[in-house]
Amino acid sequence: MQIVWKIWKAALNFVYPSSCMICKASLPDSPGLCDLCWDDIEIWDSERHEVGFERDFDQIVVLYQFNDCIRSLIHALKYQGKTLPGQIFGKALGQRIADLVEPDTVIVPVPLHAAKKRSRGYNQSEIIARATGRVSGLPVVTNALKRVRPTPTQTQLGVLEREYNVQGAFQVCRSASIEGQNIFLIDDVITTGATLNACVLALRSAGAQCVSVGAVACPPLDEDDLSQDV
Ligand SMILES: [Zn+2]
Repeated sequence: MQIVWKIWKAALNFVYPSSCMICKASLPDSPGLCDLCWDDIEIWDSERHEVGFERDFDQIVVLYQFNDCIRSLIHALKYQGKTLPGQIFGKALGQRIADLVEPDTVIVPVPLHAAKKRSRGYNQSEIIARATGRVSGLPVVTNALKRVRPTPTQTQLGVLEREYNVQGAFQVCRSASIEGQNIFLIDDVITTGATLNACVLALRSAGAQCVSVGAVACPPLDEDDLSQDV
């Protein structure tokens, strides 16, 4: 069986060779990023990089410094139907939070509105969250938070407009899974923090204890083509 699998994998690799998602260099084993592209990605250092918005949460974990590689991967995840970057990011996030969150923490992804999720086919934050859960062993509750109204895209909105845009957009619909719990809320990228803060408010209203948030990157505010498309 093992041999059959190896032959099948080799045949598949011959027809569809694995290549780096950024530079398209061929990869010998599994798809993902080549070493050179990984070298271009800088780990977010909270000592050096500021998060430029007011925070309503207890702790923030950002994976990477924003750059062109991260932009391409997030774009592929959100707009090109490619879920692999989400799995890579989620795995990295799961490893990063091992010593940062309490062992009884529950992972909650930032939800998309149902119509948006239908048209995209998936929620990218959920893809990240599930991989984070697999690696960390923490439970993932995907339907605890709900986006109760669709919100126009935020790409052209300023800081205050974004806050107004997402005000009251989220509700906790499974309070039993939130009340008294430590929560790790996951989003893809954070720009003004408006979406996360609106989610945190809903989680706190439902009795969440400690709310940490995690994201892949935190683009500068003028990177509006990558700001949260919600
Ligand atoms: Zn590459």
